[in-house]
Amino acid sequence: MLKFIRIDMTAKKVTVEETPEKYLALGGRALTSQFILDEVPAECHPLGAKNKLIITPGLLSGTNAPSSGRLSIGGKSPLTGGIKEANAGGITSQKIANLGIKAIVIEGMADSGTYIARVTADNVELIPADDLAGKGTYELTSILLERYNPKAGIICIGPAGEMKMLSAGITNNDMEGNSSRYAGRGGLGAVMGSKGLKAIVVEADKTFDAPVKDKERFKAAAKKFAQILIQHPVSGDGLPKYGTNVLMNIINEAGGLPTRNFSTGRFDAANEVGGEKLAEVATARGGKATHACHPGCVIRCSNVYPMPDGKVCSPIEYETAWGFGPNLDISDLDVVAKLNYICNDVGLDTIEVAGTLGVLMEAGALQFGDGQGAITALEEVAKGTPLGRIIGAGAAVAGKVYGVTRVPTVKGQSIPAYDPRSVRGNGVTYATTTMGADHTAGYAVTANILKVGGFVDPTKDGGQIELSRNLQIATAAVDATGLCLFVAFAVLDNPEGLPTIVEMLNAQYGTELTVDDVTALGQQILKNEREFNAKAGFTKADDRLPEFFYEEELAPHNTKFDLKEKLDEVFNF
Ligand code: SF4
Repeated sequence: MLKFIRIDMTAKKVTVEETPEKYLALGGRALTSQFILDEVPAECHPLGAKNKLIITPGLLSGTNAPSSGRLSIGGKSPLTGGIKEANAGGITSQKIANLGIKAIVIEGMADSGTYIARVTADNVELIPADDLAGKGTYELTSILLERYNPKAGIICIGPAGEMKMLSAGITNNDMEGNSSRYAGRGGLGAVMGSKGLKAIVVEADKTFDAPVKDKERFKAAAKKFAQILIQHPVSGDGLPKYGTNVLMNIINEAGGLPTRNFSTGRFDAANEVGGEKLAEVATARGGKATHACHPGCVIRCSNVYPMPDGKVCSPIEYETAWGFGPNLDISDLDVVAKLNYICNDVGLDTIEVAGTLGVLMEAGALQFGDGQGAITALEEVAKGTPLGRIIGAGAAVAGKVYGVTRVPTVKGQSIPAYDPRSVRGNGVTYATTTMGADHTAGYAVTANILKVGGFVDPTKDGGQIELSRNLQIATAAVDATGLCLFVAFAVLDNPEGLPTIVEMLNAQYGTELTVDDVTALGQQILKNEREFNAKAGFTKADDRLPEFFYEEELAPHNTKFDLKEKLDEVFNF
């Protein structure tokens, strides 16, 4: 029996049920989006008692399928007002799967107090924890590891989530106990905070022992999949050497690196905050240029960056380095690391904070290039001051407060590290995904820039709609498996990639799925999400980029985004 756990924060009651038949074949984003469509009223206030949070491992999580430990968290987003699935690495997904748990649902809301939940092999309990209120995620995680189990997975929020800030994320720890693996986007940390739940402690001895029907068949498929990943130049060489931040110089060279709040596509000092430099500094200081965020990842795109103050920021991802670097005209990696660390500790999504600080700089409330000014402003968040709350509310709110017209958001969520005018496939994804601007929802950088899975000229219109559509469908399916999205490079290039994923699923569950079934699953996920968003009031007008992307040319290619009229074709399937 796979357990389906409900924690009712209103009644302070835990119920452990058998997983409903309807959800047995689902995992990750497939389960979170179906469940939210089924049980959360689309028009409800995202910070009210009717919203629910669902936490679930992907279908392959908890097995030794390589890079399969992603944890999906779903709910109605307070940032976008639509459906949200945010997923994270870290060690907790594998632990939940090894406890035979399909999902943990948090519902209702406590009228006062702070609580934690403790999940073990034979018990789930809700524990009053007022002593932990207001703690940063690093201190909180270290207290809980010491109090309960040094090998536990700790899912938690920081003060930003407790203050119900719209950019608050939910984190969990890596193998070294760093609480820095974020389901960051869309403000789900505020949903957890609204319910009065500060953390979930998950204790499991096993990592790779989730039930598998045909172990030999599974083992062979997992081994083959690991080879497919290792043999690809991106997942087998580029990412393990320099991490995701290897993209800094590549995107800069392509003229798609948003600089000074999306004013130009090149940053002169990109190399100073890029992956090669990061690897050099991290290694020289005794850190690591390559690192796995959970056991069994063969790609190891993460890093461990020791900061001058003796603390460690792990990892610095490309999108964060871009957001606190070129986007703010900052070329000091230590400043980037410090801003990243503060976000991790207070519990905020780094991409949203980067977008917000860019808007504040556009407004003149902060100065472009002023790293110390950015740090000082970000430190206001934990204090809950008016400026801190504006920063925690995200770029769209900051734009309104300061009267800024150049606000790079879609559905209220900040656009990440690829300018839609010169990486147009990503522009289509930002505009149309159900999630609000999200590069991971249909990562067209593959064919636009990296020439993975073919080539579609990033500055021309042809092929972008189809590219984004196919990637959005495939990504939704991958997000259901618990596989890290970075397997996509090899899967797109190797015809045996997708069939091998299907083979692992069939061996694990005793099913007879085909590649077409997986595509159909991706389509169904998107349809469910669009149905929820339509019920929540979204229309075609929400599937658009901000005005300035259609009107301002972006150097160096001097291109505008002119696919506006075709955007609605993405969902012709
Ligand atoms: S590739 Fe990177 S993000 Fe993905 S699972 Fe491995 S370490 Fe984590």
